[in-house]
Amino acid sequence: MEYKELEKLALDTGFSYAAELDASTLELRQEVRDMCGANTCGMYGRNLACPPACGTLEECRKQVEGYGHGIIVQTVGDVEDSMDFEGMVETEQRHKKYFYEMTEKLRKACPDVLPLGSGCCTICKECAGPGAQCRFPEKRISSLEAYGIVVSDLCSRNGMKYYYGPQKIAYTSCFLLK
Ligand code: SF4
Repeated sequence: MEYKELEKLALDTGFSYAAELDASTLELRQEVRDMCGANTCGMYGRNLACPPACGTLEECRKQVEGYGHGIIVQTVGDVEDSMDFEGMVETEQRHKKYFYEMTEKLRKACPDVLPLGSGCCTICKECAGPGAQCRFPEKRISSLEAYGIVVSDLCSRNGMKYYYGPQKIAYTSCFLLK
């Protein structure tokens, strides 16, 4: 699928912004995985799309190497200040909704698409992990962080803004295509 088509699909789905992604700019870093290991979000070892269940960094790297291009998608919302968790959650939920919608559409058109989202996989209300198999392996979505990717680097290397000021919040995800 051509980039212009992808961009139209993203903006029609509801995302605020989109940018063409050059897969050669992707860098999978151990430090990011180590931050997952610190488990500040509480999903390490629990969500099956997060480390360590999503595979080693080397396995993620091998998977990503098969992709040449893609699209970065962003949802930007308003917040009163850095303590406005309601505003953050509202924007995050909108972003996830758009992201899952676009994933469904893209998987029909490009079955080998690799979506990398924001936050852990929330396809199920409660993940089956860690002691069971994923219920929907064909739908499971890992985050950019789970793949060791620094989101601000991904944005700046592909000409996309990451910070929109103190009264805005941005959630970022991407789709990789062959
Ligand atoms: S699809 Fe369900 S079981 Fe599988 S990783 Fe996502 S939330 Fe967990």
